[in-house]
Amino acid sequence: AKAAGGSVFTSYHARMREGLVERLELENDLRAALENHQLRLHYQPTVDLDTSRVVGFEALVRWPHPTRGMINPLDFIPIAEATGLIVPLGRWVLHEACQQAVQWSDAAGGRPLKMSVNVSVRQFDQPDFAETVAAVLAETGMPADRLCLEMTESVLMTDTEANLEQLVRLKALGLTLAIDDFGTGYSSLAYLRRFPVDTLKIDRSFVERLGVPAGDTALTDTIVRLGKSLGMATVAEGIEEFGQLAALREMGCGFAQGYYFSRPVPAAEAGRLFLEGADI
Ligand code: C2E
Ligand code: CA
Ligand code: CA
Ligand code: CA
Repeated sequence: AKAAGGSVFTSYHARMREGLVERLELENDLRAALENHQLRLHYQPTVDLDTSRVVGFEALVRWPHPTRGMINPLDFIPIAEATGLIVPLGRWVLHEACQQAVQWSDAAGGRPLKMSVNVSVRQFDQPDFAETVAAVLAETGMPADRLCLEMTESVLMTDTEANLEQLVRLKALGLTLAIDDFGTGYSSLAYLRRFPVDTLKIDRSFVERLGVPAGDTALTDTIVRLGKSLGMATVAEGIEEFGQLAALREMGCGFAQGYYFSRPVPAAEAGRLFLEGADI
């Protein structure tokens, strides 16, 4: 039993060490990828449910790794956050997404395009974050009101003066703020009033329960109503089925994203979707 225990112990440590080495390798590779401009953005269309037209995109970062293939953001964003690399990485994402939005909008004769960018707590916590965003808007010529920053409830729920001030500084630039994955965190209705938020993004876990027999519509319906009564836009994420779309329309949800319309696609394809003015 002792020998068996020992071998389990050893292999556990070997695995731990492998995990650590792998993490360090990824961290170095990520730093290099950022410096060498190897990261890419994919774009997932946002559809206006009244008109069925593409009105904007959410930028989602991609890492085509030279030997490991495409690495999922859920596998490297946490490393970027832990190491602080998320700060320059996030700035790059913001710049790239704004530049792209301006280019597509120009090509479409000035038709407005809303671009949503995900922001990590670690970025938001930088004292100069609002200045960074202002600088990117100036560099790219992106009109502030076409940029939406998506943040999770954890950012907003930390009800500190510093957080509130940061949000007010961002809002003062004229951009919009969305709560990402709404309903999955420790929502408090009080902070929705207190913080200058424009949009609720309804998490996919709620949308999943719509449009199936005996599906649960109560939670999504409540969020849509809440958004309406607070004068906020509602965006549902993760629509995969027609039934979900129909249920959301019925509730009066304003906007939607999901594989039903389109997966996140490379820039060239997203540009075509927008230029064709596609009803999808
Ligand atoms: P998120 O912000 O909640 O983004 C939505 C995720 O759901 C994306 O995964 C998207 O590809 C996926 N998705 C969209 N529609 C559907 C659908 O119909 N069905 C299903 N099953 N999935 C759908 P992705 O691109 O792998 O990104 C994962 C997460 O990584 C994002 O979740 C976001 O939290 C984070 N992330 C991505 N890009 C960035 C970035 O540039 N900065 C930061 N800070 N985080 C990012
Ligand atoms: Ca998001
Ligand atoms: Ca989300
Ligand atoms: Ca989500």
